[in-house]
Amino acid sequence: HLAKEQGAEVKRFSKGMTTIAREKLVLESDLRKGLERGEFFLEYQPKMSVETGGILGMEALVRWNHPLRGPVPPGEFIPLAEESGLIVPLGEWVLHEACRQNKAWQDKGYDPLCMSINLSIRQFRQPRLAEQIGHMLDTIGLDPQYVELEITESMTVDKDAAFEQLKRFKQLGVHISIDDFGTGYSSLHYLKNMPIDRLKIDRSFVSEVMSGESDAAIVSTIASMAHHLKLKVTAEGVENEEQLAFLRTQRCHEAQGFLFSRPVPADRFEDLFLRQKKLG
Ligand code: C2E
Ligand code: MG
Ligand code: MG
Ligand code: MG
Repeated sequence: HLAKEQGAEVKRFSKGMTTIAREKLVLESDLRKGLERGEFFLEYQPKMSVETGGILGMEALVRWNHPLRGPVPPGEFIPLAEESGLIVPLGEWVLHEACRQNKAWQDKGYDPLCMSINLSIRQFRQPRLAEQIGHMLDTIGLDPQYVELEITESMTVDKDAAFEQLKRFKQLGVHISIDDFGTGYSSLHYLKNMPIDRLKIDRSFVSEVMSGESDAAIVSTIASMAHHLKLKVTAEGVENEEQLAFLRTQRCHEAQGFLFSRPVPADRFEDLFLRQKKLG
């Protein structure tokens, strides 16, 4: 009797599993098709100077407009793309599109700014990535100083491999930042030794700086450590003036968040450029 019940349980369980697995497979194959059909596009979020309020650069964020489901958030499809390996062609497309757009803006006469691009772990582990990016920048005609690659702490767990890769990026002349800083595994030792340029303080700390004493202490400590290590520091997820004022007291260089702008498509980003020109 019990065995029978357990059998039914197993059956229900595996049925549930296959449904999830099947859904994943469908979404994966949709991802593949979406890449071929050009369903992906980029939005850009400005990075602002905490001191002057001017635009210092922008971060490219990938978007997927699924033909049936509508917009699928990157938090959903990036892990899937990572798992299936599709992140490699998708990531290549993102890199190319973001750099192409940045060059196009420069050609239009806007002040040259640094474009931040997120890398995923599978991309980062490709030994030839730096070389490929180098070729791509040559082809596009974009100066590497206008590119910043964002990696996360978890990508540096394999210290030696990460160090080699980051060195190749440095030789290429692009900048490197650690995204979502404070949420992952981080050793102070690697901060001292890895050739990085910037820490991006994770949104989860920034959002609580006015309400949680410990978050304020964390943000303040990261900022001060960054200064001592001669690293730049960006705060992500800045949503109100109080948070910005706090960041100013901590001599944070750069801020990103809904207070300034949500991520917007390329044409709307140009409005920000134009608005800035009028102000400046
Ligand atoms: P991230 O790189 O840390 O990007 C910041 C995320 O925070 C973005 O979410 C952005 O829309 C959101 N954000 C910015 N300011 C605020 C704010 O003031 N308040 C709140 N609540 N949110 C804010 P998004 O676009 O959904 O991206 C989520 C994550 O997906 C990114 O986190 C990044 O890890 C990943 N991602 C996005 N685009 C790419 C890509 O092209 N390649 C890779 N590998 N990952 C990407
Ligand atoms: Mg990022
Ligand atoms: Mg981030
Ligand atoms: Mg984040």
